[in-house]
Amino acid sequence: MSADLHVHTTFSDGTQTPAEVISLAKQVGLTTVAITDHDVVNGIEPAKIKGQELGVEIIPGIELTSETKEAEVHILGYFIGINSPELLRVIKKIQNGRKDRIIAMCTRLQELGIDLKADKVFQLAANDAPGRPHVARALVDGGFVAGFKEAFDKYIEFHGPAYVPHYKLSPEEAIALVLKSGGLPVFGHPAVSNCDEIIPDLRAAGLVGIEAHYFTHSASQTEHYLKLAKDNGLLVTGGSDYHGFSSGREVRLGSVDVPDACVEDLKNEYIRRNKS
Ligand code: AMP
Ligand code: ZN
Ligand code: FE
Ligand code: FE
Repeated sequence: MSADLHVHTTFSDGTQTPAEVISLAKQVGLTTVAITDHDVVNGIEPAKIKGQELGVEIIPGIELTSETKEAEVHILGYFIGINSPELLRVIKKIQNGRKDRIIAMCTRLQELGIDLKADKVFQLAANDAPGRPHVARALVDGGFVAGFKEAFDKYIEFHGPAYVPHYKLSPEEAIALVLKSGGLPVFGHPAVSNCDEIIPDLRAAGLVGIEAHYFTHSASQTEHYLKLAKDNGLLVTGGSDYHGFSSGREVRLGSVDVPDACVEDLKNEYIRRNKS
């Protein structure tokens, strides 16, 4: 087995379609891929169709953005029920919030003297979950910045001058939503959020795992999160957070080593919960 449990497609801010991502997964020797688009599930079915054709197993997933006062907390959901009415209802609201947020970010940019129209961003995204990477790409295309890094550093990083918060979803609400759909909630890239102190509360809210294996995690950070998972009775997951070519991130699909036991433990937990 060889798995990547954190992958984006064009249905959120990835630059490759689900079919392209799964073809690449086959090429690089992956046997299991979890599609975890931001706040949207539309990429899962097309990925499954390609997966069936090529013999790549697809785990239905999502990455929900939540915020505390201090940090953004990304909750990954694995084996989510993609027809769950509650999940679909809430992500629709979140998607509408994302569109309003693009308009608000463009207004902020206008105030900063940058003439970027929201329609340009919507055209680029052409999906239900537009996000900051689309704003960054539009800023690059418009010649306002030299690259993605400058776009984020100068304008749209968390609490940057043109940053606008997401639809208000707390980590606990994101966890509850994943659980309600029959899925398993996992704390994505915890070192990025840098708020380890909330892990016991998230555990109490129903968190089942931590993404200890992640592309930006150093060896010591991985060790740290493996220990935190163990101490809190949580499972461990991992992935590359692949966003495709020219996505502003150079990480390769499947480039993070995810031990087979992580995938097996996750599947067994899902099976165990669905037996009773
Ligand atoms: P959003 O959900 O709209 O707030 O956008 C968050 C996404 O922006 C993340 O999932 C990454 O794909 C991307 N992102 C965040 N920071 C950076 C950065 N410094 N450079 C490139 N992409 C970034
Ligand atoms: Zn993203
Ligand atoms: Fe994330
Ligand atoms: Fe991600």
